[in-house]
Order: sequence, then C-alpha cells, then structure tokens
Amino acid sequence: MNDTMLIVHQTARPQGFPTAGHFAFVESALPDIPAGSALVRNLYWSVDPYHRELMDDVPGGFVLDAPLEGRSIGRVIASRTPRLPEGEIVFHRRGWRTHAVVTPEETRHLPRFDGVPLTAYLSLLGGTGLTAYVGLTRIARLQEGEDVFVSAAAGGVGTATGRFARLLGAGRLVGSAGSAAKAELLTREVGYDAVFDYHDGPAADLLAKAAPTGIDVFVDNVGGEQLAAAVGALREFGRVVRIGTISQYNAPDAPPPRFDHADIVEKSIRMEGFLVSNYRDLQEELYEFAVPHLQSGRLAVDETVVDGFEHIVDAFLGMLRGRNTGKIIVRDRAEVTAGG
Ligand code: NAP
Repeated sequence: MNDTMLIVHQTARPQGFPTAGHFAFVESALPDIPAGSALVRNLYWSVDPYHRELMDDVPGGFVLDAPLEGRSIGRVIASRTPRLPEGEIVFHRRGWRTHAVVTPEETRHLPRFDGVPLTAYLSLLGGTGLTAYVGLTRIARLQEGEDVFVSAAAGGVGTATGRFARLLGAGRLVGSAGSAAKAELLTREVGYDAVFDYHDGPAADLLAKAAPTGIDVFVDNVGGEQLAAAVGALREFGRVVRIGTISQYNAPDAPPPRFDHADIVEKSIRMEGFLVSNYRDLQEELYEFAVPHLQSGRLAVDETVVDGFEHIVDAFLGMLRGRNTGKIIVRDRAEVTAGG
C-alpha cells in the first residue's frame, strides 16, 4: 500500500473567480487509525457549486490551510471496527483527499442496484438527483402537463430535473444553458423541447421565443436576469423553485436580480427556496422512483468524469465556467484501470 496521501487545502480567499493558486495539494503520511474507525481510499469525488460559496469568509465556510470537506465514495482499506469491514464501499463527506479516516457514524452504506454505476450515488441518486426530485415533487408540486423552464439545464441538477420532469409527465420542457452544443444535447438526449443559450440576448426575449405561451414552473439554478425573465413568463399560480444562484457566486458585486414584485401578487406566484440537506428523509423515495427507470433504460445518468485526483481543482474550476455537462465527478485512476 502506498503510505502517503494527498489533501487539498484552500490557501487564500478569492475575489470573483477562484484560480488554482487559491489551492494547494499537501502530501502527508497515512494517518494512524483510531479504534472504532477505518481508513478509506477515495475512488470518486464530487465538486460542487456550494464549494465556491464555502471559499468565501462565511459562517461554516472552508478554513484556510486545512483539509476541505466534500462528498466522496471510497473503499475501506484498513479497519479497526467490524462495522466498516475491509473492502466495503462507503459514502462520506471527507472528500478533496485521496484517503480519509472515518467512523461508521459519518459514513453511509450504499445499496447496490444491478446495472447502476457507483457514480450515480454522486449524481442522479445522490444530492444532485435528490435536489431535482425535491424541487419538482415537493416545492413545485409538478402536475402532469405543466410547462417547466429550467436554468443551468445542462448541469447536474439541470439534467436530472429535465429527465425527472419528463418521467413525471411535464408538458413543454424548456431550458437554458451556456452553449449551442449543450442546447443541442439537451434536446437530443435529455428530453428538453427547446433550449436557448443565455449568451444570445436578453433572457426575457429568449424565453419568450422558447416558451411563447408561458410557463407554470421555473426551476432556478442561476438567479439574476433569468429569474426576472421567468417571473414575467409565469402563468397564474406559477411556482418558482429557488435552488441556486450560480450567476452571483463569482460576481459578488453584481446587482441583485430585479423582477416585477407586482407579478407575484397578480399572478398568485409562489416562490420557495430549499436546501436539500433538509430533505434527506426522501433518499429512499428517490431510489424507489429512479432506480427502476435506470434499470429499464428510461432514465440515464448525465456525467462528466475527470480522471485523476490531481485534476480535482481543475475539475472544480472548470465546472464554475461551464465545462461540464451533467454532474461533474472526479475518478481515481485505479478505478479507470479497474473499469469503474
Ligand atoms: P452544475 O449545474 O453541474 O454546474 C454549474 C453550471 O452552472 C455550469 O456548468 C454552468 O453551465 C452554469 N453557470 C456557471 N456560471 C453561470 C452564470 N453566470 N449564469 C448561468 N449559468 C452559469 O452544478 P449543480 O451541482 O447542478 O448546481 C446547480 C445549481 O444548484 C447551483 O446554483 C448550486 O448551488 C445549486 N444547488 C443547490 C442545492 C440546494 O440544496 N438548494 C443542491 C445542489 C445544487 P453553463 O455552461 O450552462 O453556463
């Protein structure tokens, strides 16, 4: 066994977009394993937009020059607890490092479903898919035939939202994304009816063209101008599902979005945000909903997989600039060789 590990630290606070210079890879000896714990070699890592929020000097944010936290899947390689036997595959939150010492309480056993890849537990069956599922079923309370607009439609949450909305019987499904290639892929493969590149003009005009008769639900991953456009396009009793505000994460001085507040009253619009961490009790329900569709082929996972832990920072920075399609996941090189 290699007896060293690599851990990513954040070394400085960014203004605007972060760069590789805000991070450092720190090498150290493998830690001792306290009684009741196990050593995990990480196999897959999730890098997420919320990590950008944690890079700022905010309550609960990343501590400088200390190991970062993130979602990861790994294999137990040495253990001092019968509850985490060697070889077991576990989910935990000590990501951004090649190895982690974990206790049974901070790990989650992953059920294995035939034909479902491990990466799905970080994408469609993980927090990303759960966010999409909660947004549609609990916040929007989507009804069959209702027309839906999704921003950042080509990302992890956006692709999951599109695929789930189709399975839930949505009517016209409209999205926005950062390139014509992404728009084409979403209509060809994910089930969107129309997708516009938000760089192509004012969001209100582009949305009016893509959804000429309006929308019932807006699933918002972006905020800003697209939120204002969607409020204008919503019909009576429309819902805005506020999931994220990625247009602001790297632009702290951008003015807050402006929308017509009178629309909210006159069209009886409901706008509700949520954090997926408050809906963990729906994890089993998500499996029950999604796994049979995954196994039948009606549902597919959309992922951009980056090979090699040494690329984790590049993967994160690339995601912030839209280089991913679907959920971005980093894979250990040993898993590539093993065909994982
Ligand atoms: P993602 O969509 O896979 O990746 C981020 C995407 O955002 C990029 O690929 C990029 O795609 C787009 N983007 C970046 N800057 C943008 C800008 N200025 N305007 C419009 N789009 C921009 O990430 P994700 O994990 O699925 O997260 C999507 C959103 O959901 C984020 O806002 C995240 O914070 C939020 N989220 C919230 C919860 C919750 O509990 N509420 C849970 C998970 C995620 P383009 O090429 O299309 O620009």
